[in-house]
Amino acid sequence: MKVKTRFAPSPTGNLHIGSIRTALYSWLFARHHGGKFVLRIEDTDLSRSKSISINSIINGLKWLGLNWDEGPYFQTERLNRYKEVINFLLEKRDAYICICSPQELEEIRIKQIRKGNKPRYPGTCRNLQIKKRLNKNYVIRFKNPLFGEIEFQDKIRGKIIFNNAELDDLVIQRSNGMPTYNFCVVVDDLDMKITHIIRGEDHINNTPRQINILHSLGGKIPVYAHLSMILDEEGHKISKRKNAINIIDYHKNGFLPEALLNYIIRLGWSYGDKEIFDISEMKELFNLKFISKSPSKINMNKLLWLNKYYINNLSLNYISNLLKNYMKNQNINIKNGPDLESVVKILRSRFNTLKEITESCRYFYEEFDFFNKLAVEKYFTTESVYTLEELYKRMKNLSVWDNYNILTIINNVSKDLTVKTKVVNMVLRISMTGNMYSPSISSIINLIGREKSLSRIKKAINYIKSL
Ligand code: GLU
Repeated sequence: MKVKTRFAPSPTGNLHIGSIRTALYSWLFARHHGGKFVLRIEDTDLSRSKSISINSIINGLKWLGLNWDEGPYFQTERLNRYKEVINFLLEKRDAYICICSPQELEEIRIKQIRKGNKPRYPGTCRNLQIKKRLNKNYVIRFKNPLFGEIEFQDKIRGKIIFNNAELDDLVIQRSNGMPTYNFCVVVDDLDMKITHIIRGEDHINNTPRQINILHSLGGKIPVYAHLSMILDEEGHKISKRKNAINIIDYHKNGFLPEALLNYIIRLGWSYGDKEIFDISEMKELFNLKFISKSPSKINMNKLLWLNKYYINNLSLNYISNLLKNYMKNQNINIKNGPDLESVVKILRSRFNTLKEITESCRYFYEEFDFFNKLAVEKYFTTESVYTLEELYKRMKNLSVWDNYNILTIINNVSKDLTVKTKVVNMVLRISMTGNMYSPSISSIINLIGREKSLSRIKKAINYIKSL
């Protein structure tokens, strides 16, 4: 059997971690088995589907490299096919026209609740064989079997059994003529030859209804795997409309796709205590067996840790190329300073995200107007002028401009003027960056270059004198 999976989001909100996990597991399962992965947009609920959500889905999947072999299919482009199948079911008498008005149904519902019963359609039109009529509102319902059980083997939860007596006759076509989710999903999975359905546990209750429709259409029952939910850090269910972060915002905030995928695969799946998985390992090792039944919880610190790991372990060239876009978005012109790879090399071990790196390397490419106030109060003393003047003189005359020689000058000035090296470093750091935090100052001066470094020292001297 050729494995075929699908990711079938409804475009009613942003693509978030939960939906990406469903997509990732389906994608990995297909890739692991050399199968196919389909993208299908379930957009028949016209009032809730938005094109902005479709963009968020497509862009998010592309950014993460979760490529699809077929699609994107749009359910709204398959309406003729659904009509055809509905007619087939009507002819077969497995579906029927229902003319109960919403008011009637509401009255019945209230009565049932009052009696302490589960509200359900009582089957008023089930055997009336009403013909389609023009100018009259009707829905089409599926004739769910009245008796018996539906049993399926969920790959994560084991055997699940539902009683047909608990299910009512599902609307498969609304009064506006649009087919409904539970119906379209069955027709699509059948037409697209989906073998494995991996999706959120909120669809467990839909599964018996879908299986009944499948039986009626003579389709083969696919393998189901229902994933447990993901909770936010406070333990609340994440939902599209409330607390879910759009996947693209992780991109904007400087996360790497490698880190996010590695983080997401571990939300509910494990392989011993292994934490780091690159894409090829994910494809090789992923299976449905090790998916957990219990909910998983978002852990931002772990994501940051993984992001830092990948920033430090992927090639300098790759990281610098990604960083270029962030620099551009911040209007930092990288032509005005050292080669980005050398900057990444000295900065990357200090930061968790590409955004943080971007924010902290502006001084390599631009002159700055302000010195940090606290830094000035603490270090820009009258004596610091002598230190800076001495550094200026020696750096100006340095024959070979490199890290080692710059470091030697700093150490010698510290010794000769009897000023602590820590203080010399700090005075220089503030002069070069405007701030008190940076990696080794000699490597920074080396990258900034002689001309700019000297001019910044001069600028600091003038500033201190003006205080
Ligand atoms: N469209 C459904 C959703 O976004 C998923 C349907 C399915 O996977 O069967 O929740």
